[in-house]
Amino acid sequence: MKLATKLIHAGIEPDPSTGSIMTPIYQTSTYVQSAPGHHKGYEYARSQNPTRHTLEKAMAEIENGKYGLVFSSGVAATDAVIKLLEPGDEVIAGNDMYGGTFRLFNKVFAKFGIKFHYVDMTRLENISALINSNTKLIWVETPTNPLMNISDIEATAALAKQHHILLCVDNTFASPYLQNPLDMGADIVLHSATKYIGGHSDVIQGSLVLNDAALRDQLYFIQKSCGAVPGPQDCFLVLRGIKTLHIRMDRHCENGEKIAHYLRNHPKVGKVYWCGFEDHPNYDIAKKQMRGFTGMMSFELKDTSMEAAMKVLSSTKVFALAESLGGVESLINHPASMTHASIPRDERIKNGLNDYLIRLSVGIEDADDLISDLEQAIG
Ligand SMILES: *Cc1c(COP(=O)(O)O)cnc(C)c1O
Repeated sequence: MKLATKLIHAGIEPDPSTGSIMTPIYQTSTYVQSAPGHHKGYEYARSQNPTRHTLEKAMAEIENGKYGLVFSSGVAATDAVIKLLEPGDEVIAGNDMYGGTFRLFNKVFAKFGIKFHYVDMTRLENISALINSNTKLIWVETPTNPLMNISDIEATAALAKQHHILLCVDNTFASPYLQNPLDMGADIVLHSATKYIGGHSDVIQGSLVLNDAALRDQLYFIQKSCGAVPGPQDCFLVLRGIKTLHIRMDRHCENGEKIAHYLRNHPKVGKVYWCGFEDHPNYDIAKKQMRGFTGMMSFELKDTSMEAAMKVLSSTKVFALAESLGGVESLINHPASMTHASIPRDERIKNGLNDYLIRLSVGIEDADDLISDLEQAIG
């Protein structure tokens, strides 16, 4: 089945009790048993919920995986993956990634004896150099947030396999419509479904998709033991979001391309970070592994004073100043003080994330209105 059809039908069957075409919100905490131990596969809603199961099947299908698990947030999904590890284990992660992932690794898990290394993942040799017998997990985010760096999933997967290391790819920025890491050899794909998959800025949720049954069982055990499950209404909203993912992503990419070029040609704008530019340092890899270049981008003004950046950030009228991304409405964000404030300043600047960087999540409004809005804000 082609992706557009899968997005509408994946995992979904008419409800067996009524024929309801939409998966009902099973708002229940428990299920009645006919005799002790005699039940219909559902005992207690932390362990099983039919709305959640439908979404887990849908997530697996749209990421070309066998198993899906959904969590109460993207970071809860990340938390479950790290809980596969033991004290003494080491993780290699990117030096330009979602601030909340960095915070979870360094402020929560480091104190349990897990060691995290951060490198520029656009160069495979940086990863190889850190691999030792304690390395258990490679964590890739591509495109990265907010600098839109690209790393080669296929090459990283080959390296990970060679050393029997798990590879988890955070695919939030690309969405399953533009990139499918399991097809390129990743072991686990992670999404913050809060972003493009949910798509309407009305729900917080995370998911994992994978192919290995034993790994799925371990992660399911962590999911039910630690309890970070999403409620059924949130699962319903994400199921609804998935049905329009392709239509939304096409428009995000189309608007993204127009705005990236507009910014690049603007006399007051300096660097523009967008992975669809042919002179992007990793354009060849982006083109090989992605089917489109998203509506995510960052830029700097030529005037690198904080005042100039702050003026743009507080002057847009269509772009709303807010954290998050991937919703139908356009957002503007200041990574240094908002989404990436949890990364120490020195670390941030060393990795190229300047105080004056501005990030855009281009929505699906009319591109002309978005450009006029930026025009009046940049001045
Ligand atoms: C938002 C985000 C997360 C965390 O997801 P939440 O749903 O906010 O917990 C993880 N990775 C990336 C790339 C994100 O943008």
